Amino acid sequence: MTTLRALQTTIEALYPARGAESWDAIGTVSGDPEAAVGKVLLAVDPVAATVDEAIGWGADLLFTHHPLLLRGVTSVAEDRYKGALLARLIRAGCALHTAHTNADVVESGPTGTIFDRLGIPAGPEHRTPFEPLPDAPERGLGLVGDLPAPTTLREFAERVASILPPTAGGVRVAGDPEQEVRRVACCSGAGDSFLSHPLVRSADVYLTSDLRHHPASEAREQALLEGGGPALVDTAHAAGEHLWLEGAAERIRSAHPGLEVRVSNANTDPWTFLVTEQR
Ligand SMILES: [Zn+2]
Repeated sequence: MTTLRALQTTIEALYPARGAESWDAIGTVSGDPEAAVGKVLLAVDPVAATVDEAIGWGADLLFTHHPLLLRGVTSVAEDRYKGALLARLIRAGCALHTAHTNADVVESGPTGTIFDRLGIPAGPEHRTPFEPLPDAPERGLGLVGDLPAPTTLREFAERVASILPPTAGGVRVAGDPEQEVRRVACCSGAGDSFLSHPLVRSADVYLTSDLRHHPASEAREQALLEGGGPALVDTAHAAGEHLWLEGAAERIRSAHPGLEVRVSNANTDPWTFLVTEQR
C-alpha cells in the first residue's frame, strides 16, 4: 500500500518545491505522512464541490493546483469555509496536498499542457519561458512559442475554446478576428503581470486568464500605438488550469501501480451564467 509520504516523494520529483514562487504555499496542507493512500483525486480548486467528491469517493488524498491556505491563517473554525473544508477532510481521513507555481514552471504543467494541446512543438528549442529558473533555464513561468502554421485570431480563439472544458464566460478576445497569429505567449492562470514582458510584447497573441479592464486596455492601446503587440485571449482561470491534471494523474499512476487516481470534472469556475442580450 502506498503512503502519503511516498506520494510526497513522487510529487516532489514531478514538481520540485524549489520551482515555487517565494509567496506560494505548496505541499501537504493536512494529513499524516504515514497514512495509507489507495485513492487520489486531482482537482484545480479545493472547494466544496471537490471536497464532496473526494470524500464521497473515499479518496485518501485530494491533490489540488490552488492552495487552500495561501495567506496567514489564525483559525480553522468551521464557521468559515476554509476551516469547514479542512475539518471535513481531516475527519474523513483525506489528506490535502498542493502543487501550484512549482507545477506551473515544469514542462508538463498547466502552460506546457496548453501548448501541447495547441500543437506547439515541445522542447527548449521551441518554447521559451518568460522567466527561466536559474538552475533550469528550460523551465519557468509562462511560455512563448510558434504555432506550426499561421492562423487567424478568430480560428486561434476557437481552437482555444475547443480544448478547454466549457465555462459560462467562454473565451474573450481583444483584437481583429482576421489578424494573423503565429507566435503565442501563454501564462495559465492570472497572467496580467506579464503584459509588458518583452516576450509577451513580441508575440502575436497572449493567452491567459483574469484580465481586468485597465491592464488589458493599456496593453491594447500600447500595441495600437506601436502597430504591433499581442492580441489578447482571456479564458476562465479554472478551465485553463484543468488540462494538465490528466497528465499529472497519469504520471502518479505510473509511479504507483495499484493506486486509484482520478481527475475531478467538477467545474470550479465561480461564474455560472452569462447574459449577452442587451435591451
Ligand atoms: Zn491558477
